[in-house]
Amino acid sequence: MKFSGTNVLVTGGSRGIGAQIAKELATHGLKVWINYRSGADAALKIKEEIEAAGGSAAVVQADVTKEDEFVAAIKTIVDADGQLSYLVNNAGITRDKLALRMSIDDFNDVISANLTSAFIGCKEALKAMGKKKFGSVVNISSIVGEMGNPGQTNYAASKGGLNAMTKSFAKEAAARGIRYNAITPGFIQTDMTDELKEEVKEEYIRNIPLKRFGQASEVAQAVAFLLSDHSSYITGEILKVNGGLYV
Ligand code: NAP
Repeated sequence: MKFSGTNVLVTGGSRGIGAQIAKELATHGLKVWINYRSGADAALKIKEEIEAAGGSAAVVQADVTKEDEFVAAIKTIVDADGQLSYLVNNAGITRDKLALRMSIDDFNDVISANLTSAFIGCKEALKAMGKKKFGSVVNISSIVGEMGNPGQTNYAASKGGLNAMTKSFAKEAAARGIRYNAITPGFIQTDMTDELKEEVKEEYIRNIPLKRFGQASEVAQAVAFLLSDHSSYITGEILKVNGGLYV
């Protein structure tokens, strides 16, 4: 795959889908900045794996819900590399509960981690990439933002908002040569879905036309495409990677 840019920041790149995205993008010759909040050892392990495979990587700590920390992380990258070519807003959390039992803190924490953090990233990317009039951003959203899910009113609101925000950034930033797209994964095998009860997983799989959970690598390959030159006429798109569960 062809990439005109040189480096990428992956938020929440220390494990799960983010770690797989980091590894995939490194195979295309990009220098990958792996952001983590608390998992320093996990982030360093991914960096070492990328380097052992001949790629280039660095780690950068930041809680991306905190504007000053996220801004500082992007400054670290631009100071080191002279630019930021690509951003993947992947960091995210769940706090599942039925709405009647969900506290305002449960709601706001998820909005902050999944939506506000991505707003900060999209805005700072626009500033950093705008100077070079080049860049591409991919937001990792969710199928739940498209179809809703019981027990996830907070998560659905955060991801539905992320889809709408992606389209708005795409329209604002197009004249500056920056593309914004989102991916809506279905159920992907990670720590997040390992928390689900076995019978819940089986019920989901019964309804997935491809009859399995997806792999993080399958999301990562879609991210690579949306960042690459091969998607140069695609912006404001919400790309489903869900095994046909929602079409
Ligand atoms: P995961 O295994 O729980 O990993 C989450 C990552 O996000 C970790 O690296 C974590 O870092 C980081 N993170 C969380 N809050 C952060 C913060 N405030 N600042 C910086 N990093 C933070 O999750 P995952 O399953 O890979 O999910 C990744 C993304 O895909 C999320 O946006 C999720 O909503 C989305 N998604 C997942 C699925 C799925 O089935 N798994 C489906 C659809 C969408 P630390 O470990 O350092 O805290």
